[in-house]
Amino acid sequence: ENPTVAIVGRPNVGKSTLFNRLIAERKAVVEKSPNVTRDRIYGRARWKGETFEVVDTGGLDLESSAEIAQNIKYQVDKAIEEADIILFVVDVREGISPLDREISQKLRKCDREVIVAANKMDDFSAQDEPWEFYNLGFEDVLPISAEHGKNIGDLCDKIFARI
Ligand code: GDP
Ligand code: MG
Repeated sequence: ENPTVAIVGRPNVGKSTLFNRLIAERKAVVEKSPNVTRDRIYGRARWKGETFEVVDTGGLDLESSAEIAQNIKYQVDKAIEEADIILFVVDVREGISPLDREISQKLRKCDREVIVAANKMDDFSAQDEPWEFYNLGFEDVLPISAEHGKNIGDLCDKIFARI
């Protein structure tokens, strides 16, 4: 059976963009506004002859921040149940947010491997920097740009190193 990788994170960090990048077809909906991903979307990725299943998570039609926070917690619980590895996506342009901290708390308690994908590192020479995310308490922090396809290969290598 193929390993399963679940993508979690707060709205608008680029989970669906990363999902589409990994499965190399456009299945998830990427929108300008947050919270438009359907509940969960499943896809399959191939890397260096290996295959893994990918799950994109999100919430539809959520309006209040309380609803959004509750849905994210639900999605994180489901991800922990069904995935071997969690890709925790954060946004280098915004830095660590309170929701990132809440998600981290949940993920630190689980026995799954967690890789922090510090997304939107479009320009590696710019002032954005991913290292503050080490403060979330996970061993693996990898800067990526889902939109521009940067470091996606390194991310896949890391995924297989953790399986
Ligand atoms: P989700 O809510 O976490 O699924 O986020 P989406 O994948 O829908 O992306 C939210 C927004 O961030 C969209 O406008 C994307 O185009 C943008 N985005 C995603 N990845 C990147 C990236 O690597 N760099 C930049 N600059 N924007 C990105
Ligand atoms: Mg989405």
